[in-house]
Amino acid sequence: MRTAGVFITRRCNLRCLYCNVPKLNTPELTFEQWIKAIKILEKLNVNKIHFLGGEPTLYDKFFDVIEYVVNNTNMECSFTTNGVTSNGVVKKNYRKIWQKSWNWY
Ligand code: SF4
Repeated sequence: MRTAGVFITRRCNLRCLYCNVPKLNTPELTFEQWIKAIKILEKLNVNKIHFLGGEPTLYDKFFDVIEYVVNNTNMECSFTTNGVTSNGVVKKNYRKIWQKSWNWY
């Protein structure tokens, strides 16, 4: 299995002492740019995409990106979350992500 780790945002709602990720202030891709990137990953025979951050659920269209992957590719989806805000957010967007094998950590 070929897995791509994708840092969809560097923003985070925590400031863990050992982590400098939220300080990186890296520009984010737009939704349309992510769709192009996902298409490229698919052409490279990536079959699993794992979203990281920062806190990935803070990316404005995070679940729209997940929905695109679920409905338009053969790739599996997973993501890592710090869990601080994601429980309610995941429940709210459950219909977008339940349809295919996915995991969240
Ligand atoms: S939750 Fe993760 S990304 Fe956010 S500050 Fe802590 S270690 Fe860094």
